[in-house]
Amino acid sequence: MHSEIDQAIAKKILASQSFLITSHVRPDADAVGSMLGLGLALMSKGKSVQLVLEDGADHYHYLPGSEHVVRAPSGPVDMTIVVDCSELDRAGSVLDAYGQPDLVVDHHKTNLAFGAINVVEPEQVATAAVLFDHLAAWGLSFNPDVAMCLLAGIIGDTIGLRTPNVNAEVLRKCAALIDLGGDLTHVYNEELVLRPFTAVHYWGSGLNRIERQGDLVWTSLTLEDRQKTGYDQDDDANLVNVLSSVREAKIAIIFVEQPGHSVKVSWRARPEFDVSKVALQFGGGGHAAAAGADIAGTLADVQQEVLQKTRKLL
Ligand code: AMP
Ligand code: MN
Ligand code: MN
Repeated sequence: MHSEIDQAIAKKILASQSFLITSHVRPDADAVGSMLGLGLALMSKGKSVQLVLEDGADHYHYLPGSEHVVRAPSGPVDMTIVVDCSELDRAGSVLDAYGQPDLVVDHHKTNLAFGAINVVEPEQVATAAVLFDHLAAWGLSFNPDVAMCLLAGIIGDTIGLRTPNVNAEVLRKCAALIDLGGDLTHVYNEELVLRPFTAVHYWGSGLNRIERQGDLVWTSLTLEDRQKTGYDQDDDANLVNVLSSVREAKIAIIFVEQPGHSVKVSWRARPEFDVSKVALQFGGGGHAAAAGADIAGTLADVQQEVLQKTRKLL
């Protein structure tokens, strides 16, 4: 038996012909994979679907359906859906003209339940895993492309099945997605191994200024670093995952300078800590083990304040 919420969602989907799906700015594999997986499942039922990401899906050309992603919505739709997004602001301005989303699907424990219907399951490793559990109950089906996209979401958010929330059930979901046509090797390489030369060069700038005090390790990446190395995104190129490999540290932080005096901060923590609490204090969010925030101020000021507040967790 499906829950009442699942039945309400199935009914709304059945009654709708046009959809708009979006996710968070600076999208990761779970944002893009969840949006595409759900979108492709709807398209295979003959629905018309706008897939909108304010920052586009440039890193995700390997995922089926990514060619449909646009940066702004157009015209009215019957149903709006937001995936992998803890609050409306995180979707950028995509939904500004659309009011409250009809459906929010997420796994962030900091989710504000901002949809008319909210399917938020913080115990899940990825929004893609939430979708895996509910798609059939919503009257939708899997195909190899849907499976590939959902697999990418799970592999991305678990950093290749190595976060502490990965259990046998998660592996069974991945196995099912592989049986349905998902290509694990391809996802793994695209998501976790292959990166442009400029990204590794950019890591070098950050690694050069790495610092550690006790259980805390951190570094920063500047606008100048990006200019010097030719790295063309405004993120950390996942350097934070390298920082969190430092054995002596329990919490890793990276500060990425942004144009217009703001700093993107990423925290990663060992299982006994909850960095989402600090991220929330700065208007951000995330999970116990991985959190982020966009903070106004200079690199030096933000760094000092964040280090001070984070130390209180230790
Ligand atoms: P990141 O450090 O960007 O890889 O993000 C780690 C986690 O924190 C992800 O689950 C993000 O969705 C979340 N997160 C990152 N930045 C923000 C933000 N500005 N506001 C809310 N959540 C965020
Ligand atoms: Mn995400
Ligand atoms: Mn996610």
